[in-house]
This record gives sequence, C-alpha cells and structure tokens, in this order.
Amino acid sequence: MAGAKIIDGKAVAAQVRERVRAEVAELSAQRGVTPGLATVLVGDDPASHIYVRGKLKACAEAGMTSFHRELPATVTQAELADVLGGLNSDDAVHGILLQLPVPAQIDADAMTALIHPLKDVDGLTPINSGLLMKGRPGLVPCTPQGVMELLQVSGTELSGAEAVVVGRSDLVGRPLAALLLAANATVTSCHSRTRDLATVCRRADVLVAAVGVPRLITADMVREGATVIDVGMNREESGLVGDVDFQPVAARAGAITPVPGGVGPMTIAMLLANTVAAARRSSDAHGVAAAVR
Ligand code: NAP
Repeated sequence: MAGAKIIDGKAVAAQVRERVRAEVAELSAQRGVTPGLATVLVGDDPASHIYVRGKLKACAEAGMTSFHRELPATVTQAELADVLGGLNSDDAVHGILLQLPVPAQIDADAMTALIHPLKDVDGLTPINSGLLMKGRPGLVPCTPQGVMELLQVSGTELSGAEAVVVGRSDLVGRPLAALLLAANATVTSCHSRTRDLATVCRRADVLVAAVGVPRLITADMVREGATVIDVGMNREESGLVGDVDFQPVAARAGAITPVPGGVGPMTIAMLLANTVAAARRSSDAHGVAAAVR
C-alpha cells in the first residue's frame, strides 16, 4: 500500500475562515450586523492566555468584533455570573466563550450553563448538548464539528461505516460520537475502562483518538485503509505529538490527520463559524420581531 492520504487541517481551516470572512462581510453590508464574540478568561493559566489570544486574533482577521473580559483567579462565582449575565443581555455580543479550565472555587458546569443557549458558541450548555443528543440543530462544540468537516472534505463515507471514538469527554469524544451517529455511522465509544481496546479499534472504518495519551494508537490497532483522525495534542520535549503513532499508522491507514496541522487549526475556524451562525440567527430573529411589530 502506498500510505495514507494526509488530511490537511490547515488548508481546510483556511477555507472555513475564508467562508466566514465572506459571511461576516455580507451580514455587515446587508443587515448592518457585525458578529461579536466575547471571551471570558479567569485566572492566569498560561496556556489559556495563549488560546484566548489566538481566538481574538482570528476574530479580528475575520472582520468580527471581540469583547474580552479578564477576571482574577480569586473571582467569586457570583461575580463571574454577573459578567456572563451582562454579556447575555448585550445585543452586540453574539457568542460567549468561557475559557476552561477555571480555578477550583468555580463550578465550570454551573457557570457554562448560565450562558444563553443562542450565544453558546462552544456548544457546551445543557440545552445545546441535549439538542445534539437528540440529533436536532443547535450550536455544536467546535473540535468535534471540525473533525466532521475534515471527514467530509476528505470524502470519508460515514453512512453505514463502523466509527470508533476513543475518549468520551464532554468537549470532544461524547459530542463527536453523537455527530457520527447523526451521520448514520455505527458508533462505538471507548474510554479508560474499555476491555481490549486494540480489538475494538481494528473494527473501525473511521477511528478517532481523543484521549491525551501520546501515541496510544499503534499500527496493529488500525484496519488497513481506515481513516484515522488524531485529536490529541500532547506536549513533549520534541514538540507537539498526537494520540496516534503517526508514521507506522500512516503506512497502514487510508487517510490520516497529522499533529500539528490536522484537527488543531479546525477548532478556532469552527468557533468563528459558530459565532457568525449565532449572529445570523439573532439578526433573523430581530427581523421577524420587527416585521410583526
Ligand atoms: P479528557 O477530558 O482528559 O478525556 C480523555 C478521555 O480519554 C476520557 O474519556 C478517558 O476515559 C479516555 N482515556 C484516557 N486514557 C485512556 C486509555 N488508556 N484508553 C482509552 N481511553 C482512555 O481529554 P479531552 O479534553 O477530550 O482531550 C483529549 C485530547 O485531545 C487531549 O490531548 C487534548 O489536548 C486534545 N484536544 C485537542 C483539541 C484540538 O483543538 N485539537 C481540542 C480539545 C482537546 P474516561 O472517561 O474513562 O476517563
């Protein structure tokens, strides 16, 4: 076999961002609406600061407005709830993102649940999670949505396919399993208690690793010709490595995402896409309200 086709997440993300830029320009020209994203950062986690800076930069490049709120690590839940409430009622803010993790005194789930579902561009509120589980439209978490975009662009057939997702986090594995099911794949969710992970993985036409364990997925766990998506981002001295043992697996797979340059760039691109979708929906709703007034 010649080796896997490399799925270029950087190129796909650039296309999504270009599409978003065009939509932002159209919304602004036709309706006078500039999509706005609010980022809320609590404390001084260095990685979170880097992620949020990246999101703000991407916002500006897409022609969107950003509203950044930075709160001290000592902030109380009541104070954070106040900030989120203010953003919920601000019409210029179409998307709200609470950067995780938050300090220990803050209940991340409870705070996330305070975000208005129509502004929940991370797709993590109970309402949007529930809609996703029911296969109904809502705002979908960015990384799993990015994975679905990569599968679509790479021409991977999902209907009737065996899909195995390793990892069941709220952020990635669980919503991704729901999206694959909605696309008519036969889905198996694996986790730390799965017995004989290798045998389950070998069933997969589409294998997704979202675990956080470097090189967990080895070539003997992969069916020849499978599409392998590596969500893992593990920092080692040599640099960033995925959850998939890239070289040997690429020799066996039909298609594979690299790390870096695979799923990573898709997350911010989908965040922008969610924000522009939220802005469009809000503008549609205002249009309807004005028409019936
Ligand atoms: P997480 O919340 O720590 O969840 C990890 C999942 O993997 C859990 O469901 C856990 O099982 C499972 N797991 C752990 N060890 C396992 C093993 N040996 N065998 C099988 N399953 C195992 O992590 P996450 O937030 O989903 O992130 C996963 C990876 O994706 C990380 O490397 C993260 O950095 C990366 N990530 C990348 C992006 C991106 O933009 N590319 C975005 C988000 C996350 P249990 O449920 O049983 O504990």
